[in-house]
Amino acid sequence: MKLDPQLPGGAIQDAWTQRRRELPLISPINKRRFKVLVVGSGLAGASAAATLAEQGFRVTLLTYHDSPRRAHSVAAQGGINAARNYQNDGDSIERLFLDTVKGGDFRAREAGCHRLAEISGAIIDQCVAQGVPFAREYGGTLANRNFGGALVSRTFYARGQTGQQLLYGAVQALLRQVDAGRVELLTQRDVLDLITVEGVARGVVCRQQGSGRLEALTAHAVLLASGGYSNVFHRSTNAVKSNASAIWRAHRRGAAFANPCFTQIHPTCIPSGDPGQSKLTLMSESLRNDGRVWLPAQAGDARPAAAIPEAERDYFLERQYPTYGNMVPRDVASRRARERCLEGHGVGPGGRSVYLDFTDTISREGRAAIESRYGNLFAMYERITGSDAYAEPMRIYPAPHYTMGGLWVDYNLMSTVPGLFVLGEANFSEHGANRLGASALMQGLADGLFIAPATVSGWLAGHLHAEVNSDHPACQAATAVVQARIDGLGSSGLGSGFGSSSGGGRSCDSLHRQLGEIMIGACGISRHAEGLRAALAQVQALEQEFAQELRLPEPRVGRNPELEKALRLEDFLQLAALMLRDALAREESCGAHFREEHQSADGEALRDDVNFCHIAAWQWNGDGQEPLRHSEPLHYRHATPSRRNYR
Ligand SMILES: Cc1cc2nc3c(=O)[nH]c(=O)nc-3n(C[C@H](O)[C@H](O)[C@H](O)COP(=O)(O)OP(=O)(O)OC[C@H]3O[C@@H](n4cnc5c(N)ncnc54)[C@H](O)[C@@H]3O)c2cc1C
Repeated sequence: MKLDPQLPGGAIQDAWTQRRRELPLISPINKRRFKVLVVGSGLAGASAAATLAEQGFRVTLLTYHDSPRRAHSVAAQGGINAARNYQNDGDSIERLFLDTVKGGDFRAREAGCHRLAEISGAIIDQCVAQGVPFAREYGGTLANRNFGGALVSRTFYARGQTGQQLLYGAVQALLRQVDAGRVELLTQRDVLDLITVEGVARGVVCRQQGSGRLEALTAHAVLLASGGYSNVFHRSTNAVKSNASAIWRAHRRGAAFANPCFTQIHPTCIPSGDPGQSKLTLMSESLRNDGRVWLPAQAGDARPAAAIPEAERDYFLERQYPTYGNMVPRDVASRRARERCLEGHGVGPGGRSVYLDFTDTISREGRAAIESRYGNLFAMYERITGSDAYAEPMRIYPAPHYTMGGLWVDYNLMSTVPGLFVLGEANFSEHGANRLGASALMQGLADGLFIAPATVSGWLAGHLHAEVNSDHPACQAATAVVQARIDGLGSSGLGSGFGSSSGGGRSCDSLHRQLGEIMIGACGISRHAEGLRAALAQVQALEQEFAQELRLPEPRVGRNPELEKALRLEDFLQLAALMLRDALAREESCGAHFREEHQSADGEALRDDVNFCHIAAWQWNGDGQEPLRHSEPLHYRHATPSRRNYR
């Protein structure tokens, strides 16, 4: 497998301008001759589909939701970064670029990070033009707040519902194109496979959730913007249906999977209250602007928070990281919280949470100030926990949240399958081994609004292949593979006589829960070789159990949410094995990938720049075969790789 990142030459500041100059254009009339398929209606997919349609391409957008507005981006809370320096606190494109490279622990491409910082300002302009109601200062200028891993305030926000407002803006632009007849919107479709013709991506196979009918949809280019795979851990802050199927099936068809073990555990989530709980809830990182993280200084102190005097509290992030304090990046904050809890200082049931306390800010600025910034988050917290966080500290704990890994893409966002582009959280760029808060929305919109519209168009200019119809042999073959997979699920079990169910005695949920326990234990905040090896064997055994013991209610046709879950879980099981292999192979600690064997005397991640300053890209090698690991070297000409120091 050849990994050519297609990086532009010349000065990094001019690289993107230069690339756009080089990309061939298509005349407006000819654009109508091209069909583009977009999978996903989140910020990345909706904005790409709307922009490509505005350019004149014929676009089909697929989502498994009943409305594009339900895409997971709607849940994003805290904000979106942009280097506008509205606060006059020293921000610049250069600083956002360097913060991103450093935040990712020097495991991302410089050129991509620089482009992201460059585009960030234009994203805000575009969103404002679409009517996104960002918070404003009294004088009318857009307000900014601080997020982890940065010493400047560059995060634009709309209370604690920034994703919702941004997505509504993007979806309005999309629906305008639907109304104009340039976008065909297909909802309630599960994309289950990629169709390639002579090695080029030409379509997807999807299942209509209502009827169960399989469809082969074709185009001249396919864009996957299907989000992240944190639900491999079963419970995460992601929506319950978020999944890896579109990217995993593309991987099996030849798309390299990059850095699968780079996953982010977010430090501020509501701790799990019950093993049967289906998901976890994020409390936005923005809260750490005004909330102070602390624990009782004495291990095992069971007094309520209010009864612990100031002198007996340990504001451990402020103590350990005086420069960044509570605003250290997520990987650092999560690791420290877990460590303190394991040492017996944790509070709440099982000692599995830390306090996030707003008392100081409330007494300094008043309750109304906090309410105006985070009112909906406090209301959400109270609804879930029954506790009033204006009166007593929140209890929070780290939870799986974001996946930096994803399909490998070159600078043009094209995967190793020609014609297959990957956008947003589904690809592996540009966050390296740790994403900074508020940078995912920025990346998704950079991909969808600006990068893909230029590069997809540039690629299509040279590739006006003949149309592929749904009766093409490649479409029929891919559809047959999906049908066989559906028919085979749960059919080799011993049967437990469960009425109209087929297969064995284990529900999809129980298998998924078990997978999550294995993965969070071995491949979560902290990892070591022995644990990873043991987990790999357990995941492989669980895969066998899934094949033999899955209980699957009938029918296979028509609406069947259990069948949908089973198809997703089968992919998660295979992806989990790849994540474990990736974590094992990367014999260093970097960002969120913390290998206990590789840490400094003060417990910080110890990178190995001699042997691992690269992107790992895995090639599928067939069922039952070991995947192949390739690497793309990373070169730093502007940022000097150094040990991250937030102290
Ligand atoms: C609770 C929460 C809060 C967050 N807050 C912030 C924040 O404040 N700032 C920030 O920068 N980031 C935040 N993030 C991260 C950010 O929201 C996501 O990374 C980003 O929204 C992902 O956008 P996307 O367009 O790539 O994918 P998504 O928004 O996840 O959209 C995926 C789309 O793909 C479709 N899809 C997926 N698989 C299939 C399939 N097989 N078939 C058909 N359709 C499919 C889905 O239906 C959906 O339309 C947050 C994340 C969470 C979980």
